[in-house]
Amino acid sequence: MPLPTSAPAFAHEDLNPFEIASRQFDIAAERLDLNPGIREVLRRPVRWLSMSLPIKMDDGSIRVFEGYRVQHSCARGPCKGGIRYHPSVTLDEIKALAAWMTWKSACVDVPFGGSMGGIVCDPRKLSAVELERLTRRYAFEIATMIGPERDVPAPDVYTDARVMSWIMDTYSMTRGTNSPAIVTGKPVTLGGSRGRISAAANGVMCCIRAAAKIRRMDLHRATAAVQGFGNVGSVTADLLFNEGVKVLAVSDSRSAIHSSEGIDISSLIDHKRRTGSVAKFPGTAPIEPALVLEQPVDILVPAALENQITLANAGRVQAKILAEAANGPTTPGADGVLHKNGVLVLPDILANAGGVTVSYFEWVQDLQALFWDEESVYQRLQKVMGKAFEDVYRTAAIYDVNLRTGAYILAVDRVATATKARGIWP
Ligand code: NAD
Repeated sequence: MPLPTSAPAFAHEDLNPFEIASRQFDIAAERLDLNPGIREVLRRPVRWLSMSLPIKMDDGSIRVFEGYRVQHSCARGPCKGGIRYHPSVTLDEIKALAAWMTWKSACVDVPFGGSMGGIVCDPRKLSAVELERLTRRYAFEIATMIGPERDVPAPDVYTDARVMSWIMDTYSMTRGTNSPAIVTGKPVTLGGSRGRISAAANGVMCCIRAAAKIRRMDLHRATAAVQGFGNVGSVTADLLFNEGVKVLAVSDSRSAIHSSEGIDISSLIDHKRRTGSVAKFPGTAPIEPALVLEQPVDILVPAALENQITLANAGRVQAKILAEAANGPTTPGADGVLHKNGVLVLPDILANAGGVTVSYFEWVQDLQALFWDEESVYQRLQKVMGKAFEDVYRTAAIYDVNLRTGAYILAVDRVATATKARGIWP
């Protein structure tokens, strides 16, 4: 039966992120004709921890927050994955993000497995002191699970270098050591890598350049829309702007703006820093946030959360290239619609892998206590991303599949090969 080009709003789709991650894995496992036992091993996380985190609030009350850490695979190296603070965090979301980290590390061939952590909270409603207490309590709870050779956390949605510093300090204090390699995305002064803040966005940009070549798109004449204006979204928008792309629409969690002349992104970054929002940026008009994804632009960059492009709106995506800066922004149902409509989707496990790549560089620098300059980090990142794009493109061509399935086949094969080589113990 042909896939629909757009779907009625009532079209049923399972939006559970872990179910989605499992379906994506199953498609690759099927094409690889993976042994059923190995398939079972790789389909589920190796372990996870759920915890209650009691915190003294500034007004003297006590609140208990829910936290998680999930380790999906350590077959190719220590687990690696971010920490997310968001009110909608669930265990299944964290399991999905941990699995995506395994496939992402394998896709760009860095020697890490995958993990993820999160706390159900809205950090925008906590004071800096409450946030620090919550972070340190969480770090203490997961201290038995993490370690430079076990599991290395990093920033994700609503966590940053400051949060990583607190985790590094709490871990180091409880161990009586100085352990910079316990987290990545730290400030440079504590052993962070130069170029880490812009790493994920630089990787996205590298993939957009490669995709533009394939589509014979001149970036100097191209237009773009970016959903999410945090670490990854704002830097990607800035890189697009500096490349000569007109960024016509941008959104954050509260508002969305549009300008047919193109938005001056470096000034918008200043505006967001000053006001906390992209709203009311001079020379732009407010638009409905959902419409950012449906703009008639050449390049669409979702850089916020999962399940933004679904069966309900995929048929209205007008972009020619969709670069997944966020993890899991597109559902499998939407993937089918986009593919049929000729949209070139650059899958998350490839497109945003610049973050884990420079995290790997940071970990290497910390372990060696020898630090690289920014140019050296950037050159190495370009090399890794360029090779990963070629590997994914070639795999997709060999198997005659889209880039997402190509990326999964490449990644799952690498993890399965390592798992089989290690053997199932005992
Ligand atoms: P961030 O906290 O820095 O920014 C998130 C942004 O999304 C904020 O601007 C927020 O306002 C916006 N947002 C939240 N909900 C939104 C919504 N419904 N509509 C529009 N905007 C919304 O987080 P980040 O680190 O930039 O992460 C963004 C995405 O990129 C996530 O999917 C994350 O997993 C992924 N990612 C992050 C990294 C990294 O190194 N930080 C690396 C790879 C992938």
